[in-house]
Amino acid sequence: MSLSDLQHAFAEIGQPSYRAKQVYEWMWKLGARSYADMTNVPAALREAMSEVFTYHSIQLDLRQHSDDGTVKSRYVLHDGHKIEAVMIPVAKEKRATGCVSSQVGCSLTCSFCATGKMGRIRNLTAAEIYDQAYDTNKLCLDALGYPMTNLVYMGMGEPLLNYGPVLESINRITSKNGMGWSPKRITVSTAGIAKMIRRLADDKVKFNLALSLHAASDEKRDKIMPINETNTLAALMESLEYFYKQTKGRISFEYIALRGFNDTFEDADKLVRLCRGQFPVRVNVIEYNPVAGVPFERADEHQVDAFAKRVRDKGVMITVRRSRGKDIDAACGQLANKA
Ligand code: SF4
Repeated sequence: MSLSDLQHAFAEIGQPSYRAKQVYEWMWKLGARSYADMTNVPAALREAMSEVFTYHSIQLDLRQHSDDGTVKSRYVLHDGHKIEAVMIPVAKEKRATGCVSSQVGCSLTCSFCATGKMGRIRNLTAAEIYDQAYDTNKLCLDALGYPMTNLVYMGMGEPLLNYGPVLESINRITSKNGMGWSPKRITVSTAGIAKMIRRLADDKVKFNLALSLHAASDEKRDKIMPINETNTLAALMESLEYFYKQTKGRISFEYIALRGFNDTFEDADKLVRLCRGQFPVRVNVIEYNPVAGVPFERADEHQVDAFAKRVRDKGVMITVRRSRGKDIDAACGQLANKA
């Protein structure tokens, strides 16, 4: 509910507007998980609210800690479905990235990904996404002693197929009535839906955009990401150019290195050509994490370094990201409510 919705509803049960503001603050800024948390709201009003409204908040179901400090949280939604969020700390830099889900499951069936094997069950609401961000920030404060510094929409689901609620959740996170974040600390990751990237551009969003590229030719990308059949690399590059022109936002390419599939020098050279478009781009090469029943293997570490060097030597910004949280199935492509 927006504040004005709530004020309206409170007027109907004979409650003053300042009470609505108080409850609203509990819902968003103070992260109440139930009416019981709203300690400065009179008990009689909390009782009255519980008769009139349903308070759907996500509930922590399981928390797993990796040897490398990564923490995976599984939440149960009001209808019993489960989603996962991940917290990835870099303690020596006092940084921590939160990774949130935007859907229960995913419809896109990328062949290397465990979430895709679940199919899409439903979209998350803005509040269910916001709650993951809020709770992950709280986890950072409690466990690390400093707040979450970055947030990525790279958990379960394709964010751009849940467009409205994803943008609404970001509005809440960046609102002073929510978490008060700068949108520059937020990255939305997409498997690549050209028309939705154009929509982001038209909406002049201020957050960063990551394209899950994973292959630099249509021929190879078609084999691992069926979405590429209707959203070719040419269409995606055009939409990203438009995104950059309209927003000047930061764009990155995510590239999971798969042994013998996309880690050769020929692949590196194709990647360089894609990066020489009309917008600045950074590439993040990510180690692959095996998923049961998937015929891919992690690329050799030396090969990945050589691949990255070749790309870097041709003037493209590229970073190799070693996998985090793989012992608890929290790493890229592994989220599937397995534990
Ligand atoms: S990689 Fe992303 S878009 Fe592809 S199936 Fe997995 S969750 Fe969906």
